[in-house]
Amino acid sequence: MSRYAEFYRQSIDAPEAFWAEQAKLIDWKTPPQQILDASNAPFVRWFAGGTTNLCHNAVDRHLATRGDQPALIAVSTETGTEKSYSFKELHAEVQRFAASLMELGVGKGDRVLIYMPMIPEAAFAMLACARLGAIHCVVFGGFASGSLASRIEDATPKVVVSADAGSRGGKVLAYKPLLDEAIRQSSHKPESVLLVDRGLAPMALTEGRDHLAAALVEKHRDAQVPCTWLDATDISYTIYTSGTTGRPKGVQRDTGGYAVALAASMKHIFDGRPGETYFSTSDIGWVVGHSYIVYGPLIAGMATLMYEGLPTQGLDRQPDGGIWWRLVEKYKVTVMFSAPTAVRVLKKQDPALLKKYDLSSLRALFLAGEPLDEPTARWISEGLGVPIIDNYWQTESGWPILTVANGVEQTRSKFGSPGVPMYGYKVKILHEATGEELSGANEKGVVVIEGPTPPGFMQTVWKDDERFVNTYWKSVPGKLVYSTFDWGIRDEDGYFYILGRTDDVINVAGHRLGTREIEEAISGHAKVAEVAVVGVADALKGQVAMAFVVPKDGAALGDDQAALFLEGEIMKQVADQLGALARPARVRFVSALPKTRSGKLLRRAIQAVCEQRDPGDLTTIEDPGALQQIRRSLSP
Ligand code: ATP
Ligand code: MG
Repeated sequence: MSRYAEFYRQSIDAPEAFWAEQAKLIDWKTPPQQILDASNAPFVRWFAGGTTNLCHNAVDRHLATRGDQPALIAVSTETGTEKSYSFKELHAEVQRFAASLMELGVGKGDRVLIYMPMIPEAAFAMLACARLGAIHCVVFGGFASGSLASRIEDATPKVVVSADAGSRGGKVLAYKPLLDEAIRQSSHKPESVLLVDRGLAPMALTEGRDHLAAALVEKHRDAQVPCTWLDATDISYTIYTSGTTGRPKGVQRDTGGYAVALAASMKHIFDGRPGETYFSTSDIGWVVGHSYIVYGPLIAGMATLMYEGLPTQGLDRQPDGGIWWRLVEKYKVTVMFSAPTAVRVLKKQDPALLKKYDLSSLRALFLAGEPLDEPTARWISEGLGVPIIDNYWQTESGWPILTVANGVEQTRSKFGSPGVPMYGYKVKILHEATGEELSGANEKGVVVIEGPTPPGFMQTVWKDDERFVNTYWKSVPGKLVYSTFDWGIRDEDGYFYILGRTDDVINVAGHRLGTREIEEAISGHAKVAEVAVVGVADALKGQVAMAFVVPKDGAALGDDQAALFLEGEIMKQVADQLGALARPARVRFVSALPKTRSGKLLRRAIQAVCEQRDPGDLTTIEDPGALQQIRRSLSP
């Protein structure tokens, strides 16, 4: 048996012994009394009775061994700033922030909503909450008032931490008016608002409620705030899912299990070592930002690089498609984490930029968040010359479910597959209707996880145990299993392939087709940059596939002849690869596709527009203009 197979087997056969061993990777004030309590399935309690603190593990623990080494490197190509904080400096900053929150009455169990751009204060605020045992709820900076209001309503925070503004591609987005409007709309009113003034946009302060962070932090310059020891099962934070498929769900996470899960993943999956630099291009508004910008790297004693800006703009605020590689060289980044959507942006840049910098420090690039198509994977893999490691997970899981664990054993990745189940995860493929397990190679079904779920996995839906059980655990008839709501297959070597979301299936004349498979066939065409396929109601066939394509060059956009020709080519390609049934009824050309702020395709909104329905909750959309284009492309 391979080393990883044995490691995995232990995690499944003897989870208590396995995770007791992993628990040694973090500091405990008092050791866990019970490693695993699964008596109230599907709820799981990990490390009950143990007390610890995320901030202690991320910061204080390293003071003696690496206090003067960099902990947080904040780079903004929006403001042209670059600043590095050592563990000692980070410790001081976090205590100042914690003391400021305490002055505003924040203590254990209180909620603090963080609505911030990617500036160091956002990390200070998160770590300060963890230090005090307060529950942070980070909302992606720049979300519209409506979506912010519903989150304020749901989280009922005592304090909101925010800033005057964010900035994107040089365009300032004032946050304070959005926040004021959100508070006005919400029936819950936070007692206080703590504001970081970056000097980007004017702020009107509400007397008695609003406080400038700079003043409070200065007042608490020398503050010493000890860590509040929490039970392992105490809540660390809540975060909402991306809202790709519907109303976002408030994912609630524990403290001890999460700390152990992150420490273990840094060692076994990311293979990140103390003293090195980790660079995740995500945002603190997403789960990747929580796990692998703030907590994971710091817990591992690594410096974390926090980046505000586009991947195509330099510190001098001039176009620079090589900025990320410049930073990899400068800070000797060893582990990098990004998303396929970002790589597709870079793919449009001059490939020579990948050769311009010394990237020899880099050991691997991890990509997650959406399917990684083979052309994109090959392009970046050849450009960087390091392993590209696809990893599949969800906000709900907090860390990778499927990938390869190079820290346990060097394992080959396969293009198109995120990999194999990670230790602790009993991943199965079930028949969607009967719930029968599909154990043969290449049988397509729903990807599910059998309980008990491993440490770090969501505890429940915030304030709504019933929604947790009913949404996630009751979708397969007769079985209590967690559904990922993704389709998948497993090949003869045990590698999984994700074939799209369970609500992305279309039914053409009685045949079920995955939109993602059609997209794969189309994206292989040399003239296609990006594609989205949706099923649209059709009187005759039930549903037909509609394809929206972003062409590599603009010809098909402006010229009807060229569009018609390319449409024909694309249809033929799909028919050749998947059969005539899968051929889209129409191919339409647009310059951009509607995506969530985290870069995921909003197929449900495209579908609604095609069927002339209301596109529903669009709070997480990146560019409403892209949806307008879809609408226009439909008119003859
Ligand atoms: P919501 O659940 O609110 O609709 P969401 O599912 O987009 O939003 P996330 O938790 O951010 O919210 O995304 C997780 C989903 O992203 C997975 O269920 C899967 O569909 C997709 N995904 C993530 N990583 C990968 C990957 N490596 N390959 C394929 N799909 C991935
Ligand atoms: Mg989801």
